[in-house]
Amino acid sequence: MTGKAAVKGRVDQGDTYAVFGNPIKHSKSPQIHKAFAEQLEDTLTYRAVRVEDEKFETKVRGFFERGGGGLNITVPFKERAFALADRAGAAAQRAGAANCLVPRDDGLHAENTDGLGLVRDMVANLGWQLQGRRVLVIGAGGAVRGILHPLLQERPDALTIVNRSPARAQALVDRHEGSAIPLQAGPVDKVNGETFDLVINGTSASLSDALPMLPEVKLSARCCCYDLVYAAEPTAFMRWSAAHAAWAVADGLGMLVEQAAESYYLWRGKRPATEAVIGSLRSRLLENSI
Ligand code: NDP
Repeated sequence: MTGKAAVKGRVDQGDTYAVFGNPIKHSKSPQIHKAFAEQLEDTLTYRAVRVEDEKFETKVRGFFERGGGGLNITVPFKERAFALADRAGAAAQRAGAANCLVPRDDGLHAENTDGLGLVRDMVANLGWQLQGRRVLVIGAGGAVRGILHPLLQERPDALTIVNRSPARAQALVDRHEGSAIPLQAGPVDKVNGETFDLVINGTSASLSDALPMLPEVKLSARCCCYDLVYAAEPTAFMRWSAAHAAWAVADGLGMLVEQAAESYYLWRGKRPATEAVIGSLRSRLLENSI
């Protein structure tokens, strides 16, 4: 849903929020933040704004000069958002990309809440354990770039990234040089024959209900499989996971809501409860009404 998410009451400039991206029609952020605001009896507006490529920096600066309370940033601007900020949180620094901008007294802060959102969904909502697990990530685009730091903070046993274009996977591993967690990268078949406890599909193949090329791996007895993409029906990767006897399978709807909740907290210092919002979005997704 695009457009404005408004909650009744007077809205100050500092209570105006938005997500900037291009395209932006698909964004569910306005309805998620509207639900958070209603839950917390907060007064704010949140709009989805399609920004022309050459105008991104000007639009961001203009938004904050007018006193805007905070921005979410989506494709293709996450790296440019990081570059124009004055300071950055650890996840954004490691990623070199930001999905959230927060105005503070000491300047504009870049944050990346995608990975924290993913970890919260897996650990708090789904009850999956990450510590000591052998993790395989398939894909090496912007989303994977954003999730690595929080994933590594959970202290898995080891983490491997494979990608159709292996050099992109290697570049991500290089960004985490010095990590205490063993990291490796390579082409998809690099891990053939290996066993994993958690497999994350970070490719965009599911958007067209396609299965990315997958390695011939073994799933351990308690292996969990997570697709960053969400959809009304199980994605091709989720169906593959179930057919390979994964212990648990999930899509990325919970991650979407959790990353938004973290943004809300960074902007307003209040943490929304997420369970009902995830449930309501899921229902509407199933009814095809979003
Ligand atoms: P990018 O375009 O940056 O990266 C796409 C990745 O998918 C690359 O690794 C690309 O490989 C790979 N890929 C694409 N098509 C195929 C295919 N047919 N077979 C194998 N690999 C393929 O996208 P993002 O990283 O930004 O996003 C990835 C997905 O994550 C998106 O679908 C997005 O919807 C989802 N996402 C979900 C979020 C959530 O909150 N749930 C948050 C952010 C993203 P190569 O490098 O070889 O091109």
